[in-house]
Amino acid sequence: MAKRLVTGGTGMVGSAIPADLKIGRKDCNLGDWQAVNAFFEKEKPEEVIHTAAKVGGVWANMHQKGDFFRENVLMNTHVIEAARLHGTKRLLAFLSTCVFPDQVSYPLDPQKIHLGPPHRSNDAYAYAKRMVDVQLQAYREQYGLEYISVIPTNIYGPNDLFDLENGHVVPALIHRCFLAREKGEDLSVWGSGKPLREFIFSEDVAQLSDWAVSNYTEAEPLIFSTSEEVSIKEMVEMIVELLNFKGKLIWQSDKPDGQFRKPSDNSKIRSLLPNFQFTPVYEGLKKTISWFEENYPQIR
Ligand code: GDP
Repeated sequence: MAKRLVTGGTGMVGSAIPADLKIGRKDCNLGDWQAVNAFFEKEKPEEVIHTAAKVGGVWANMHQKGDFFRENVLMNTHVIEAARLHGTKRLLAFLSTCVFPDQVSYPLDPQKIHLGPPHRSNDAYAYAKRMVDVQLQAYREQYGLEYISVIPTNIYGPNDLFDLENGHVVPALIHRCFLAREKGEDLSVWGSGKPLREFIFSEDVAQLSDWAVSNYTEAEPLIFSTSEEVSIKEMVEMIVELLNFKGKLIWQSDKPDGQFRKPSDNSKIRSLLPNFQFTPVYEGLKKTISWFEENYPQIR
């Protein structure tokens, strides 16, 4: 077995991937080139799954653009370069569906990544992530490295960032609904509830990554998606049911909807792994909510 390093090892996806070495923010500051270089020089991982990123929901993306851009560009650039310098044979890095242009024909497929500007709400993050694709293609051409990238849709699961303001919709709403239930208050939800998203369970992403890092070598980013759209309203209804919340819902129309939809084409992963069973959203949510209730208040 190749010696595997997972960056972002304490995060939602990283914590679900088996590895010899897992590093979180406290173990190595990926924004610091000297630290990253020294770490790779010492450990010489043969395989790297790079999940570390500064991530957040639509609010965080709109209000901390400078941080999202700088931290992600630095981390990605450093990890990929250190892997090259210290002989890492296989590397998998994460993109995101927000890398795609805002104005684009659906379904999303990897050939459309660079066709136009991303949605304004998360453009700094999206451009930083697009550069992962640029860097990997450049390293492929110059150094012949078959490093790969994957594009998961909206990931949710245990160990997510459950921050009320800065989290993604699923963790933020689970947390907010839990608090509303405990305090007997109404539950406020952002936007109109109409946007559609394709949600994917973190453990599915972990299993697919585990497979892809040793089996997928193509230059084209690989989409991880169920290709099943769920509206925010449907998602809220499932969370409300699973948390047994009996109060009222307040739709906050002054809060952003973000992109309306971003349906993706999952035909490639389906043809590569025809027997893979994606966790149904309701099942994944049930596991996530059980994890949340068991771990509260020790959550991120
Ligand atoms: P996005 O896919 O990058 O837009 O990710 P998000 O997870 O932040 O948001 C998805 C959708 O959920 C948007 O339409 C939001 O308006 C909606 N939404 C509803 N309530 C919340 C909330 O409490 N937090 C977040 N982040 N989004 C919410």
